[in-house]
Amino acid sequence: MEQTLSIIKPDAVKKNVVGKIIDRFESNGLRVATMKKVQLSQCDAKEFYAVHKERPFFADLVDFMVSGPVVIIVLEGLNAIAKNRELMGATDPKEAAAGTIRADFADSIDANAVHGSDSLENAKREIAFFFANREIY
Ligand code: ATP
Ligand code: MG
Repeated sequence: MEQTLSIIKPDAVKKNVVGKIIDRFESNGLRVATMKKVQLSQCDAKEFYAVHKERPFFADLVDFMVSGPVVIIVLEGLNAIAKNRELMGATDPKEAAAGTIRADFADSIDANAVHGSDSLENAKREIAFFFANREIY
């Protein structure tokens, strides 16, 4: 069993498709181990995406992530990290495979509906950033 962090980003929360996105996870062998709805601060978003701080899109990414509440989920299952990335589709929804979350719910490379951890190390760091062990079941 593996755990990964998913964030349903402000665009998808505004579109009221939280349940539809969670259904993709549950219908494909992943389980919600915990979740919460949060309004991130600039400080939270900068720290969470610190790996991208030198990238030209960093300021836009941070502004977008604080533009409304997000739903933060710990997903659990066999190969949960890779499975979630497969269900999400490519970063740019124009390149995302048909039937993926980003193909179906994302509008642009900025407003791309979901975040997913990209490695075991990052999944651990990202989960610990948002949740205490006693909140995850
Ligand atoms: P995420 O980390 O949100 O799951 P990802 O792993 O598919 O997305 P990353 O390369 O980690 O993609 O980029 C983080 C986020 O930064 C992307 O989700 C996207 O919103 C934004 N981003 C990435 N590349 C670009 C780009 N070239 N132009 C604008 N925004 C970008
Ligand atoms: Mg990423």
